[in-house]
Amino acid sequence: MTCPLCHQPTTWEGNTWRPFCSERCQLTDLGAWATDRYRIPGPDLTMDSSLPDSLEEDKDLETP
Ligand SMILES: [Zn+2]
Repeated sequence: MTCPLCHQPTTWEGNTWRPFCSERCQLTDLGAWATDRYRIPGPDLTMDSSLPDSLEEDKDLETP
């Protein structure tokens, strides 16, 4: 099989870092994962903070 990260030939049996070829590739993949997970809340938080803002503005307009 081939390493999903660097696409170099790697062995499955006895491979501590399978399906990757080396610890470096495994760590790199985990890092990419973490980066992806951190990237998702970014835009979400921006949208979340803008939503209550517009809701509060609506309230202010309706209250008087
Ligand atoms: Zn690799």
